[in-house]
Amino acid sequence: MSWRPLENFDWNSRSCGLHGHATYAPTEEVLAAKLQATTPSGHAWRCLRCGAYVLGPPQGSGPANAAPIVLRGKALRDAFILRFLALERGIRGLLLVALAYGIWRFDGSRVALQRVFDDYLPALKPLASKLSIDIQESGPVHLIQQAFTAKHSTLLLVAGGVLLYGMIELTESVGLWLIKRWGEYVAAVATTIFIPLEIYELIEKVTWLRVTALVVNLFAIAYLVYTKRLFGVRGGHAAFAAERREDSLLELENAATSAGAPVS
Ligand SMILES: [Zn+2]
Repeated sequence: MSWRPLENFDWNSRSCGLHGHATYAPTEEVLAAKLQATTPSGHAWRCLRCGAYVLGPPQGSGPANAAPIVLRGKALRDAFILRFLALERGIRGLLLVALAYGIWRFDGSRVALQRVFDDYLPALKPLASKLSIDIQESGPVHLIQQAFTAKHSTLLLVAGGVLLYGMIELTESVGLWLIKRWGEYVAAVATTIFIPLEIYELIEKVTWLRVTALVVNLFAIAYLVYTKRLFGVRGGHAAFAAERREDSLLELENAATSAGAPVS
């Protein structure tokens, strides 16, 4: 037996538990009849996400093709993965901005830099270590440390570069968290740009953290480009939008026909 821990995980119920059910009354009468039921406790509408009958009036109504797209199953898992990547990048971004501040403020003194992290980011540190993000070890930061012996003007340049890198990570984080297409593009492009640096650092010294970071980033690029159909892959945005809407309408009809609701 293979180990598949998430095989029986119900993404729909989890989402409904967190955000509430999603009910909708289509104006098409046949479809509407299949999505509702009269129970001893009152009138109920079928949740378009988890399929449960929910007492009370529907949350929305209108033509079926104007129904809000309810993320179900695979799409919900996608959203979860994107938000994990967003969290990881958000923390890294904050740490990088703080590092830029430290380089600028303390002119590259390593002891003073440690103080910046201790004084300004005590809450972030345990979270960062829990997610295996080590600012000393992760990505191009290591290269920056080699520049600490450099002169003042160089250090200002380095601080600017680190700040820019941090801002890019934060932009990725916001875009991925909100599941915006631009965020997926920014993440795919920016992550790709830094891959050569990560490989360079691996060649210099192999550590588990660097290997993990590279694997996570390669996965992120492949995952984004393939599932989100970026850069015209697999039909591009049009195909992606069509897939979502078809899935949703299909689910709507599936839910309606397989519901077995009493149709009077
Ligand atoms: Zn539900």
